[in-house]
Amino acid sequence: MDLELDYPFKLLEYFNGFRISKVIFSACELGVFDLLLQSQKPVSAAEVAQNLGTSGDGMERLLDVLVGIEILEVEHTEGTAYYSSTDVANLYLAKSSPKSLHDMIIYQSQTIYPLWNTMVDAVREGKNQNEKTFGLSSEDIFSAIYRSDEEMLKFMGLMNSTWVIDGHDVVTAFDLSGFKSVLDLGGCSGGLARELAKVYPASAVTVLDLPNVVQVAKRHFSEGDAAVHFQEGDFFDGDIPAADLYILARIIHDWKEDKCLQLLKKNHSCCPPGGGVLLVESLLFENRRGPIMAQIFSLNMLVQTEGKEHPPSYYMQLLNRAGFQEVQVCRTGKSYDAILAVK
Ligand code: SAM
Repeated sequence: MDLELDYPFKLLEYFNGFRISKVIFSACELGVFDLLLQSQKPVSAAEVAQNLGTSGDGMERLLDVLVGIEILEVEHTEGTAYYSSTDVANLYLAKSSPKSLHDMIIYQSQTIYPLWNTMVDAVREGKNQNEKTFGLSSEDIFSAIYRSDEEMLKFMGLMNSTWVIDGHDVVTAFDLSGFKSVLDLGGCSGGLARELAKVYPASAVTVLDLPNVVQVAKRHFSEGDAAVHFQEGDFFDGDIPAADLYILARIIHDWKEDKCLQLLKKNHSCCPPGGGVLLVESLLFENRRGPIMAQIFSLNMLVQTEGKEHPPSYYMQLLNRAGFQEVQVCRTGKSYDAILAVK
């Protein structure tokens, strides 16, 4: 018998998924994980509340859910609960950790969460809701994403934090050591480019992005790091500099097919024989029945962009049409996969 018919456990868990997300997001925004990391000993809810300027009751309830979902731990001494972080919370949720996903959480909480309120209309109309929500053209997707300095910085923080956990797997999916000059087109904060430069120190790595993005990347993300160079430009408009390898990470999934083909043809004509392009995307299975995160990303693309996620065969055909014959696919088993096409 299907247990769900007797009582809809799974459905209820799904309905409440957004509440779990919001518990983690709120704790992050309030600075709970940073405080617990800094304090050398378990802390009571009253102390956390006092330090973070919140109500004692609200903080206690928040901490208790975090214990319930095993993100925090608790011990009781003389009737008082004392909370401490788990290793996972210290590593990924505290802002000061080198593997912090704090910026990813802030963007999910403050931008993606309200944006997903437009999902019904986005599905009904089959397009993003930038016009209705922000009064900005639904085709000029980066004007909407970068609608304020604050939004630009938050988006770049999101892009950057992905590569803290996925960057190494992506840049080692193939041996890229033979490519001596690498141009990361739309490389944003330079997060992936930095991971690449770490693994292939003999390669010259450059990020090309829109002028204001490059300025913010240099100011906020490059940390005086000389391993990656930045160049202002527009990959659709005009020529792009020659390089042995072009990286397009999370670029193809943003745009309609004609623009993607135009960009890939440009890459093909600008790279030397033996040069190539590395696509980095979250790959759907060929039958599109998963992975669930790629399916969810595809829905996110509907809400925010003009593109979608695809299975490997789609990218292979597109690359073939752009002139690349030799195409290899590597699923990393993490959120992002890699496709290498050689001229
Ligand atoms: N590749 C980065 C990554 O995966 O972290 C960023 C991906 S983000 C989805 C798309 C990037 O393309 C943004 O950094 C954006 O500024 C850049 N971009 C959009 N239109 C562009 C254009 N016409 N020329 C150059 N970069 C562009």
